[in-house]
This record gives sequence, C-alpha cells and structure tokens, in this order.
Amino acid sequence: MSNDNAAFTDSQALYLEGLARGLSIMKDLPGGSDAPAGPDAPMLEGQHNNEQLGRELVPEEKMKRERHPLDRWNELVARAENGEFPKGTDVLVTKFFGMFYVAPAQDSFMCRLRLPNGTISSYQLRGVSGLARRFAGPYAHVTTRASLQLREIGVGDPIKVLNGLYALGIVNKGAGADNVRNITGSPLSGIDADELYDTRTLTLELNNHILNTRELFGLPRKFNISIDGGGRAAVLAETNDIAFRAVRAAGDGEPEVLFRLGLGGITGHGDFASDTGLLLRPAQVVRVSDAILRVFIAHGDRSDRKKARLKYLLDAWGQARFLDEVKALLPEQVLLPASDFELVATPDIDRYAHIGVHAQKQPGLSYIGVATPVGRLSCDDMDAIADIADRYGSGTIRLTVWQNLVLSDIADGEIDEALRALAAAGFDTTPNAIRSNLVACTGNAGCKFAASDTKRHAMEIAAHLDEKVALDVPVNIHLTGCHHSCAQHYIGDIGLIACKVMTEDADLEGYDIVLGGDYGARAALAEPFWAGITAEATPVIIEQLLLCYLDKRTGVEESFRDFVARITLETLKSLVLERADIAA
Ligand code: SF4
Repeated sequence: MSNDNAAFTDSQALYLEGLARGLSIMKDLPGGSDAPAGPDAPMLEGQHNNEQLGRELVPEEKMKRERHPLDRWNELVARAENGEFPKGTDVLVTKFFGMFYVAPAQDSFMCRLRLPNGTISSYQLRGVSGLARRFAGPYAHVTTRASLQLREIGVGDPIKVLNGLYALGIVNKGAGADNVRNITGSPLSGIDADELYDTRTLTLELNNHILNTRELFGLPRKFNISIDGGGRAAVLAETNDIAFRAVRAAGDGEPEVLFRLGLGGITGHGDFASDTGLLLRPAQVVRVSDAILRVFIAHGDRSDRKKARLKYLLDAWGQARFLDEVKALLPEQVLLPASDFELVATPDIDRYAHIGVHAQKQPGLSYIGVATPVGRLSCDDMDAIADIADRYGSGTIRLTVWQNLVLSDIADGEIDEALRALAAAGFDTTPNAIRSNLVACTGNAGCKFAASDTKRHAMEIAAHLDEKVALDVPVNIHLTGCHHSCAQHYIGDIGLIACKVMTEDADLEGYDIVLGGDYGARAALAEPFWAGITAEATPVIIEQLLLCYLDKRTGVEESFRDFVARITLETLKSLVLERADIAA
C-alpha cells in the first residue's frame, strides 16, 4: 500500500488507518446509527467487545478489520501472475481460500480441500490427481479431518489449482485460517448396519450453510465441527469444538435418534468436548451450529491467537453462561434437556471397521477399507482407486480420520476381484494391529512447525514392529509434529509428539511419548511416559512396550490402555528399561 505520511512506516500507517477506521465503526456500537451493517458486522462487534474488555487486537484481527480476506481474491490472482509468495498477514489472507504458504519447510503452497463427511467421487479424485500431476507434488495426503491436501504447489499455480477444484465441485473457501474447517461425519454413513443416523446430508447442509453465510467467516480462530452418526467407525467427534453424537432417546413418545451436544474439544490443549447435557433433533443441527458460531464470533478472544478457541471462552464464562447466550439466539424447545429422556446405549466402536471387507446394511453389498501409508497417495494411487471404485463399486470414496479409504457398494460376488485389483495396485486391505490405526501429521518434510519427520518415522515404526511384534489386538499409534497436535497424539494408545533431542554432537529428531489415550465412549487423554527419545530409538521402545503388554496383560480382553492404567507408567518404564538397551 502507499504511505502518504512519510513519518510512519507502511506497517505503522496500516495499523493507524485500521485503528481509525475501527474507532469510527465502533463508536456507537451496539445498535447506534453508525453501527456496522453487512456481513462483517458480527466480526466487528466481536472485535469491539474485545476492546471494551481492554484487550488489544492481534495484527491478524486488525488486518481483517481493514478489509475482509474473502474480498481480497484479486490479490491472490495478482501475486500468482507476478510470481510472488504472500508475506506477513497476507499469508493468512491466502489461507482463507484454502491455500497455505508453507515456507520455510517447503517454498511452495499446500492446498487443503473441503470434503464434507470425507466423501469424494471417482471423477473428483481423478481430477484432483490430474491437478496434482500438473501443479503440485505429484501426490496427495489424506488428512486427519478426512480430507485431502495437495502440496508443493508453485508460486504461479495456486489460482489454477483452486479453479480446477471449483470445476470439480470442490469449494475450498474457509478450508484454512480463522474458519470452520472441513466438517467430518461418520465414514460408514449409509452403509453401516449399526449406525443410528446417516450423517452425509447433514454435513453437506452444514457445509453449504457456512459457505453461503458470510457472517460465519468472521471467527476469531479456526473451528472444528464433527457429526457422529453412532456407528461402528469412530470419527473422533469429541476432539472437535462442536461434537454432535447420535443417540437413541426415549422421551414421552416413541424412541428417536437425537444428537448429544458437546462443546470445546481441543485435545492439543488438553480437553475433549464436554457434554452439555442437551439434546437436539437432526433438523436443528445447522441452526444450533449457527447460533454457537455467532456467540463465539461475538465473544471469542481476539487478543491472543493461542487463546482464541472456543475452549477458552467456555473456560472464562463457564458452560452455563455460554449456553444461555446460545439459547437466546434460538427458539425454545430446540435444545432439549437430556434428563427428560432415557438414552439407549450406542453400539461399540470397532477399531477395524475402516479396514478390510465388511458387509453393508444393503443385502448383497460390501465395502472394502484400504490402508494408506499414513495418508500418502501418489497420483497413480488416486487414479487406481478411482478406477476400482467405478469398476466394482458406486464410484464413491470415503476418507477417514485414520487417513484411510473406504470403497463402498461392491457386490459380494465381485469382492475377490476388487481385492485382487487393489492388491495389484499396491494397496493393503488386511486389518493390521498397527498399520490400521497408525496416524501421522505432515511432519517437517512439509510443515514448518514440526520438530521431526513424522510420516517417515511412522512408516519406520510400522516396518520395525511388523518384524518384531505379533500383536493380536489393535493399538493406536499417533505421531504429531508439534503442539498443534494435528495427529491427535493425546488420544493414541501410544502418542508421540516430536521434539529435538540434544546430544553432544547434534540436536536429533525425536519424540516425547505419552500413553493411555482413548476416544469415543472411553475418551481419555494420554499421560506423559517418556521424554526425549531419539527417532532412531523410538521403534525399539515401542517394540518393548508392546512386548511388555503381550507378556503381562491379564488376557486378550485387557486392552493396551487398561493394561497401562493397571500396571502404572512408572512400572512400565522400568520394565521397558530392563528389556531395552537404552539409557533413560
Ligand atoms: Fe504441522 Fe504441527 Fe500440524 Fe504436524 S501437528 S502438521 S507439525 S502444525
């Protein structure tokens, strides 16, 4: 921007102009004749509320006040034409369109897709593969929000990628930055005989409501929503800011399926979504989400990016006050006290439900869950999956939060042939106690925040354990590169968070290990077990942990988590030290 006042630097001038504009906008809030109107009004009111509390807005908020990022598409186009990467707060502006500049890890863009309920059709996957071949990696990663990422997009290509995605019907608006991220839903929706509710239409409705309601792009920070239909495959709803979990409930009339409302999940900050004791009907999910988002927009912290999540507003206010504000935006009888209902237990989660062959609820049809190497898919992989989904199934591919794929609607008589086709394309469909539940974030190969190469180390751990441990029950291992915890290390049976391990010669990549996490009805945060293990030593430590478990468990029915709780972490560490030739 030009600087008309030579006494100030550009950034000082931008700050002062923004401040002056903000003051003029805010002077009569709320409700005065000068009160802001239009789609940015809720965000501006939220900023004003922060200032009224004496909080100074962070630079990102001042930038948003100056001009909303969604009104700055032309700047992305101009930078791409000029061969320029974004700088400063322009990096955040670009993320509003789902495009992340990820230097210094890679001097390129990463593009995150919005795929409600993790569903993508064969023609879309083929199209994504084509975009990746021309403008990116060429590969894609399945993310822990059941979506896809393209990486290594060159400086001149982000618009070409976004236009290509729009042509495929994939709208990335709000896939990054301070927005509602990809909305997850049960991956087996519509095909799971045990499910209570098919979440696909709801996730789509909620996604489209958000995309078409500009006020909801005024959040202080990112926001996650998940809808769990109560089936066999977990979607980790309790780790989201809003967790809707289907339950069968009997009130005065016939039993019906309602959603339990949980709020404030963010496991990287040590919290699951806490149950509100409230239920709602499926038809109210969009309306209730909208009301919660509006309260967060109005009152979320905009002075500290680390505290600008729903959890911190709930901590500051208490759940009761927050819910009062939400209820004030809703008609009566939308949020129903759970105490007025008798709740029927939901089916147990099956930790192998997303891998291997399983009968669908439709007679004569089955689905196949396909393992991927912690989410990485080459373009050939994507093309092969699309072809197999078309040839044997309905052309629908479901992505899971476990970074795997599900191909649905395959006639039982064609399952063997479909399995052969998958094997020929190099895919593993066998339930495996480690690989089926192995999750890793991007790591330092592509993310500047990471202290270690999580994806590579995850595959090294799996290869090591394949040789050394004959595990007969699933054990989740989650590797995350930093405190943002994209791979949810706190809910792993074994969670690894990257760190640097100082030695005399060098700082080595390594991990702090946490143990005993869980999810679903038994949700629990893992506890610190061992800090500062080098990446090289980590496979051996995990091998010994699992051998201890197999050796000392009371029986196959004692889960790894229960074993850890019974034996205690201290005892377990001593046992591992005895077995492994590694200094503490
Ligand atoms: Fe990057 Fe950290 Fe997320 Fe891993 S957890 S992808 S290192 S931000």
